[in-house]
Amino acid sequence: MIVKLIEVSCYDCGIHFGLDEDIIDRWTKSEKHFHCPNGHPNKFTNKSADKLQLLEKENKELKEKLEAASKELEALHLELEIWKPNTQLNKDN
Ligand SMILES: [Zn+2]
Repeated sequence: MIVKLIEVSCYDCGIHFGLDEDIIDRWTKSEKHFHCPNGHPNKFTNKSADKLQLLEKENKELKEKLEAASKELEALHLELEIWKPNTQLNKDN
């Protein structure tokens, strides 16, 4: 069985350790208390899950905006290419 470990850090001492995805999901839903390897109490709150969801949504929206802006930029570059020869022609005259 392959377990995917997610890196988490202690709220108190900041030590990094790994927990598997399913455990994080379950403990977030139940807001279960657990301890870091140094014994500090920690818990995942649903608030952070909500915040994560919000940030993921924001991230998606920003990616879509970036994509739209990139397409617009590409169109402007094309337009510029079309106009370039004319400017060159004017310079020569
Ligand atoms: Zn700790």
